Amino acid sequence: MADCLFCRIVAGDVPAQRVAETARAIAFRDINPQAPTHVLVIPKDHYPDLAALAAAGGGLLDEVAALAHEVAADEGVSETGYRVVLNTGPQAGQTVFHAHAHLLGGRPLAWPPG
Ligand code: AMP
Ligand code: ZN
Repeated sequence: MADCLFCRIVAGDVPAQRVAETARAIAFRDINPQAPTHVLVIPKDHYPDLAALAAAGGGLLDEVAALAHEVAADEGVSETGYRVVLNTGPQAGQTVFHAHAHLLGGRPLAWPPG
């Protein structure tokens, strides 16, 4: 989708600091990090939110989740702990409507979230 920021990152039209990639997903650093490790993991194809990504089937959501864990291990936070968040809809604060998993780690993360 030409008017989607994350589709433009996938296409390479918008720069991003990529840290990992699989056949169907990429991981890049969040431009406004909320933790020492803050990486976004997204499907390369456009799905607006978690519901659409889950409905896609074929193991795509698994691939996104597995890549998040792989990046957590690469970043050295898989032992200390990390959080994977898919903000979905207005009350959760979703601002980019191309499904993305936030990988957060490298500091203690409060619960419940704000
Ligand atoms: P959400 O609020 O869950 O939709 O998350 C969107 C995230 O995208 C925010 O954490 C933003 O900081 C991040 N973001 C927005 N633009 C960019 C960009 N050009 N490169 C990397 N991350 C971005
Ligand atoms: Zn998109």
